[in-house]
Amino acid sequence: NLFLTPEEGIVISRYGKLAEVEDKQGQSYRCNIRRTLASIVTGDRVIWRKSRDLHTNSVIEAIHPRHSELVRPDFYDGIKTVAANVDQIMIISAVLPELSLNIIDRYLVACAVTKIEPVIVLNKIDLLDKIQQQAVFNQLAYYQSLGYRVLFISCLKQQGLEIFKQTLQAKTSILVGQSGVGKSSLIHQLLPHLSTQVSVGEVSDVSGLGQHTTTATRLYHLPSGGDIIDSPGIREFGLWHLEPQQIMQGFKEFYDYLSDCQFRDCNHLTDKNCGLQKAVANGKIAQWRLDNYHRILQTIRDVKVKTNKTF
Ligand code: GDP
Repeated sequence: NLFLTPEEGIVISRYGKLAEVEDKQGQSYRCNIRRTLASIVTGDRVIWRKSRDLHTNSVIEAIHPRHSELVRPDFYDGIKTVAANVDQIMIISAVLPELSLNIIDRYLVACAVTKIEPVIVLNKIDLLDKIQQQAVFNQLAYYQSLGYRVLFISCLKQQGLEIFKQTLQAKTSILVGQSGVGKSSLIHQLLPHLSTQVSVGEVSDVSGLGQHTTTATRLYHLPSGGDIIDSPGIREFGLWHLEPQQIMQGFKEFYDYLSDCQFRDCNHLTDKNCGLQKAVANGKIAQWRLDNYHRILQTIRDVKVKTNKTF
């Protein structure tokens, strides 16, 4: 027999019809993917068999059920899974270019829908004086009151990085956020031995193993503990495939007040006697949260209109 006995492994990366699988000892092998297992992605736990011969690819035989999936809308394939078994999404934001609570709320929706734990990370606090820092702490305290973890860090000045690294331990995480918030800088802090190419370059669809590996979605073991799944494509993922009912999942404090709405199908905007509007008036829900909820709904409607016209 060409292959050894089946064993457990983890998919480090997927390249077209091939995958790189790591064994328990941390050694990686190139594997063929059977047509029936075509959905294999980075992060999948698999059962596979090593080849006895170095010149022949090993083979993946089965995929374990996934506890989470990151998906991306794809023009050809519809909704496409891009990574599996992610435990934690680090929502990186920064005081420069701008602190956008709307973007944070968009990612919280994505986390709620995928059922992956979010951590809100505010980077570049070195750019603020004490008074400004206090103002930002107060702003983000709302998220803490909802039970979310919030970290304040400076990648540049190495502040808060120990807690940041601790938060990544024993988990598989991804870093997401707008361009310019410091994601590549943080990845370089976490993986100092990696070449600078990891974060640069465009996402390109290539099938040849070894080519453009720096832009492929890949799982990295952190020297400080924990794993990161990263690629330029992973760092920003959209919401336009979501339905309006799903958006509210990211606004968990709203649910307590929905029963106060006079109308079952209340639009929480112009309808009379809205429970959410009342909660805002009573200081139970922040006005900006309700505004962000409506802004997210609006952008999704806009994108739907646009895409229906275009395609
Ligand atoms: P990305 O687009 O999210 O990957 O962001 P980058 O890592 O490329 O960082 C964008 C810019 O912010 C770069 O000029 C970094 O040097 C800078 N930057 C990153 N972290 C910090 C920080 O903690 N403080 C300050 N002041 N600048 C930072």
